[in-house]
Amino acid sequence: MFKKVHFFTLTLLIATTFSATTLREIAHGTEIQTLKLTQEEKQFLIEHPKLSMGVGIAFPPFQFVENSYRGFEFKGIAADTIRLLEKRLGVTFEPVFNITFDRALELGREGKIDVFPCISWTPERADFLSYTSPYLSYPLVIISRSDGPFIGSVKDLNGLKVAEVKTLSTYSKVKNEFPEVTLDYQFEQDTESMLEAVSLGKAQACIVDLAVASYLINKRGLSNLKVAAPTPWGDNKLAMATPNSMPILKRILQKGLDSITPEEENLIRQKWLRLEYSSLTNPYHVLQWALKLTGFALLIFGIIFWKNRNLKREVEEKVAARELLKQANNYNRSLFEINTDPIMAIDREGVITDANKSTETITGLSRTELIGRKFSSLFTNDQKADQGLQDTLLYSSIKNHELEFTNINGKNTHAIFNFSVFKDETGISTGIFAAARDITERKIMEERLKEMATTDSLTGLNNRQHFLEHSSILFEMAKRHKANLSIALFDIDHFKQVNDTWGHEAGDLVLRELSKLALNCFRSSDIIGRIGGEEFAVIMPETDKEEAILASERFRKIVESTRFEYENDLLSITVSIGIAQFNPNTNTTINDLTKISDDALYTAKANGRNMVFCANDQTTPLKPLKSSN
Ligand code: GH3
Ligand code: MG
Ligand code: MG
Repeated sequence: MFKKVHFFTLTLLIATTFSATTLREIAHGTEIQTLKLTQEEKQFLIEHPKLSMGVGIAFPPFQFVENSYRGFEFKGIAADTIRLLEKRLGVTFEPVFNITFDRALELGREGKIDVFPCISWTPERADFLSYTSPYLSYPLVIISRSDGPFIGSVKDLNGLKVAEVKTLSTYSKVKNEFPEVTLDYQFEQDTESMLEAVSLGKAQACIVDLAVASYLINKRGLSNLKVAAPTPWGDNKLAMATPNSMPILKRILQKGLDSITPEEENLIRQKWLRLEYSSLTNPYHVLQWALKLTGFALLIFGIIFWKNRNLKREVEEKVAARELLKQANNYNRSLFEINTDPIMAIDREGVITDANKSTETITGLSRTELIGRKFSSLFTNDQKADQGLQDTLLYSSIKNHELEFTNINGKNTHAIFNFSVFKDETGISTGIFAAARDITERKIMEERLKEMATTDSLTGLNNRQHFLEHSSILFEMAKRHKANLSIALFDIDHFKQVNDTWGHEAGDLVLRELSKLALNCFRSSDIIGRIGGEEFAVIMPETDKEEAILASERFRKIVESTRFEYENDLLSITVSIGIAQFNPNTNTTINDLTKISDDALYTAKANGRNMVFCANDQTTPLKPLKSSN
């Protein structure tokens, strides 16, 4: 970038030097003029030690006014040339600041400004000003962007966007001299804005004085600009002028200008066309540049800081997201682990892939023992377990399955397993979570409740309800198969006296012990029930009345001979027993049969107790078997 600028500057210097030399040759020939003032001229200078100057305030590098910490300063090629003349002529030229160039011209018309050190010729100005020979001359050139389209001449500007200042001569020059060229104008306020517009791409080209372009390109660092082509308008000529009323001063100035050597001239030009160097020698500019550089550095730092902050934020966000994910995983793991319900992860093949602590507790197997094991192998009914898994995978259903297994310690365990499918991000079922709830205790309780519903709590025998249910089933079976069936009812004789003599507790003990005797005495296929306070019934399938009488008599004897121990006392009781055999011709319901045996029992009681009576049938009179007291 900088190389390009320097190359540009070098090209420009060669061009301007050549241009200036040519101008001098045209004006004065090759011989350098020396300062030879007449007496009149010398006298004029003595009488006018201070001469006022009308200066252009914004026409760099030719002439401009700078407002620095030193106050207003007249600067540029014209200013340096004037300074040379001051030395040579022994007078001072004092710029009139705080006025525009137009105002200065008005004052010049009135004869109130002595010198215009840098001014172009116009017919209007020529009315009141006398001009020296031009001492500054630069060509107008076309400036474009380095990467812009090829432009070889003004004609190539046809159809292009061209930056222009309406009041500049180039605007009318193109219109008048190239009517066939149509430009798409981008109007700007001044030359600097024009060049800026081209540099920024708002326009594709502009026509500018080469020296002005060089100065501004260097000053603004518009390094993407190049001199694209020359124009037919070779020279923009600038001279010094004085009011017409002071022809002597014009002559003095001309002699002064003629005394300037080519070396002096080049020094001045180079100074203003190599701006970076000269500007930095000025402390004010150093300060300005320092401020600019600081601003630029701050901007760069700002951008870097902003970028870094964004980057940092992005990194922080990623770290936070990762941390969240980690936390979520830990959280899930913790939930998995601390869950009091056993949870297992099972793959599609039914193999356990993970298990929590509670699973170890319930199965008695460690996590490592569980992982890799077939889930169904844990259960008593492995088919039911497998079916549950398959249904879950197939229908993605969430179902409860009650499964039973024996854990490693031999403890029979019941559990309800809740199977739920887990899917990958594409929605495919990859496995199952099996969350279990140990219901062993509940099961035991249920069994207990069931037992309580069917069992007499005091004796452990079937209660009345359950006995009747059982006996009606056996009755129906006997009826269907025309099989034998007998029923025996027995009642403790004078049991009231036991309670009265020994107390209720003793009575309870007798009831319990009597039940045990009955259970031991009758066959296991016989169903025994406690059907009243101290009344019992035995239903004997596949048993006729003879067999029933034998079994009942045996029991009666056992009871009779048994001594029940209560608080160091020995108690004895007897029972009366009534028997009835099922007769398919007459007995239609179990109640009929029970009623007959109850009648037989009543007869046994009536005939002296401690006795077995059998009702053979309705026609046969009941006959006491035996009685012993
Ligand atoms: P019988 O020879 O005529 O059968 O005379 P009994 O005294 O045995 O007859 P009763 O029906 O008059 O009396 C039955 C008694 O059985 C009344 C009651 O106190 C007692 N009993 C009934 N159920 C229980 C029980 O669960 N525990 C105790 N200890 N006594 C009971
Ligand atoms: Mg009784
Ligand atoms: Mg009774």
